[in-house]
Amino acid sequence: MRLLSVIVPCYNEEDNIADFYAEFIKSKSFFEKKELDYEIIYIDDGSEDNTVAEIKKLHEADGRVHMVSFSRNFGKEAAMYAGFEHAKGDYVVTMDADLQDPPSMLPEMFSYIEQGYDSVATRRVNRKGEPPIRSFFARMFYRLMRRISKTEIVDGARDYRLMTKQMVDAILSVKEYNRFTKGIYGWVGFRTKWLEFENVERKKGETKWSFWKLFTYSLEGIMAFSTAPLAFASILGILFCILAFLMIIVIIIKTLVFGDPTSGWPSMICILCLISGVQLFCMGIIGQYLSKAYMEVKERPIYICKEEI
Ligand code: UDP
Ligand code: MG
Repeated sequence: MRLLSVIVPCYNEEDNIADFYAEFIKSKSFFEKKELDYEIIYIDDGSEDNTVAEIKKLHEADGRVHMVSFSRNFGKEAAMYAGFEHAKGDYVVTMDADLQDPPSMLPEMFSYIEQGYDSVATRRVNRKGEPPIRSFFARMFYRLMRRISKTEIVDGARDYRLMTKQMVDAILSVKEYNRFTKGIYGWVGFRTKWLEFENVERKKGETKWSFWKLFTYSLEGIMAFSTAPLAFASILGILFCILAFLMIIVIIIKTLVFGDPTSGWPSMICILCLISGVQLFCMGIIGQYLSKAYMEVKERPIYICKEEI
């Protein structure tokens, strides 16, 4: 029998654990027909509520439910990585605990794997029920990424993805600390089939992503998959050099030909402020990359496991 590993990252999802299981089990007959066994690995990302107790309760009832519990909140990226490490299946799927990734799509996804695809990914075609400002920035992010990164990152892509063991091993071989899995999927390659679906609103509880968290996550994505900001800093530097050079020529001509004394203390200060601002900005960009490199060099583990069942 082949095995399907289901990875479910959970951070304060006590209300959703049992609901997710119930929803997932509805596809049981499909699995039986396909001679497919399953294991559900809930990754508790340092929840402060009763998530762990809920998972343990499920484990008592069904031995195919497993848990990896973190010592603190390490973030969804770390949770998915831990899931990939613990998955034993021939196929692996990652799903949100809040049922925003409908398990009812699994049979269709599986049919494409049988047709020879290495991975079946999903994207939502709309962002119904999401704050408009959030959707706006999300769209801007994907547009920017398409321009500045060679790795394909699809707009509206979810982390809901079914993969073969081979692809999961490839993802695990990418050991970087600053993880941006949406980019890593594209980077490792393999044949991917994209399925689209209408956005489903979160069943219970609140989203764990604040605007600020998403914003820093997007910067992570840009820096992990593009060095364009560094090039941008150099180009800006060159532009300002050219501008300064032209200004020098203008001033020399003005003084020699028209006998104009060079004056303008205020304008000088403005220019000084502008240039030093640009310099600091560019140094900041370099600093960001340096700090990322610093974290990578430390080689800290991506997560710390506290309990495993
Ligand atoms: N999640 C996690 N760690 C975090 C934040 C979120 O494991 O630090 C999990 C969360 O429990 C959920 C999934 O990641 O199963 C997606 O989170 P959420 O639904 O809050 O994000 P959204 O769907 O709003 O993008
Ligand atoms: Mg969600």
